[in-house]
Amino acid sequence: MPVIPERKSRTIRVRALAIGGAAPIAVQSMAATRTCDIEATTRQVRILEDAGADLVRIAIDSKADVAALAKIRKATKALLSVDLQENYRLAADVAPWVDKLRYNPGHLHHHEKDKPVEDKVAFLVDVAREHELALRIGVNAGSIDPVLKERFAGDDVGAIVQSALDHCALVDGLGFRDYLVSIKDSDPRLVIDANQRFAAARPDVPLHLGVTEAGLPPDGIIKTRIAFEQLVSRGIGDTIRVSLTLPFDDKGREIEVGRQILADIEAGRFRSVPPNFFDGLNIIACPSCSRVENERFIDLAHEVKEMTSYAADHDVTIAVMGCRVNGPGETDDADLGLWCGPNFVNLKRGSEELGAYSYDDILGRLRTALDDVIAKKATSTS
Ligand code: SF4
Repeated sequence: MPVIPERKSRTIRVRALAIGGAAPIAVQSMAATRTCDIEATTRQVRILEDAGADLVRIAIDSKADVAALAKIRKATKALLSVDLQENYRLAADVAPWVDKLRYNPGHLHHHEKDKPVEDKVAFLVDVAREHELALRIGVNAGSIDPVLKERFAGDDVGAIVQSALDHCALVDGLGFRDYLVSIKDSDPRLVIDANQRFAAARPDVPLHLGVTEAGLPPDGIIKTRIAFEQLVSRGIGDTIRVSLTLPFDDKGREIEVGRQILADIEAGRFRSVPPNFFDGLNIIACPSCSRVENERFIDLAHEVKEMTSYAADHDVTIAVMGCRVNGPGETDDADLGLWCGPNFVNLKRGSEELGAYSYDDILGRLRTALDDVIAKKATSTS
């Protein structure tokens, strides 16, 4: 029996790249650099391309990013996907320079709050159709559509699966078929559950798999492997992205790790994890993108891991994020959250903001807060 069963998804095209159906599972990644830094981002695209990326994603936030992307486009032949972040209206500006658009249904409410979501999706589909681009509906558990969050109170998996299904129905209703879906979270168990539920409801829609903010190797690789093994071996998943917190020059490793995991699954080489793998200290870290505010973020994530090793046996989650835009939301479910600004790092405990500290002071402050969290958990269980 083949280890990877036949996939039921239809095949879509990103220019010459086929995704879904009988096509090989495509491996992609994302530039971690600021898009406006044309030299660094072009270099980043090249690093990923040299590592064998089938597709490279770049985030855009502003007209300046769009202008930079036009120059980056001229310097590479790589297939480019663009992440529209909150600003879906930039799709029309960026479309001439890219091959695929990604929008996040949970971000569509940020701009033009009175405009119906249906109209915003219709605009994106029109742009994609006019420029012959593929589309990704990219749902993320860290940014759930507020309406669904309320409707599915306490059931995040239900909310994100419904969000993906609703948007598929919208795009289908517009007669557009070159789209795929991703449903991501930092917890591989949630990724497995959500993608299985979605695939059961819409086996025809190709899926992009990923464990977002998987963090630093080796744990980030293990978390990703757990999800991919369980999904790909069930015939779920048509393209993958491994999200690791790595120095910019090492980002090619995301592609190498992705291909290795796929080769292992195909050869029947599965790795199990001990039942207590998810116990103890859990450090979540974002992979960085155009929004990263200070390159010290990568070193900070490593320093947090090193400094907190004394608490390895405690069930505490610490999230380390690279920017002020997504940092506060993405750290919501963590016991302690850090997110970077240009010259300072914000710290929060649960939903309580503790303040902003310099890159030199943050580790000491984090240690105090971590000791406090551990002491409180000990009191509550005694
Ligand atoms: S947290 Fe910010 S810097 Fe990190 S990947 Fe998300 S948007 Fe990019």
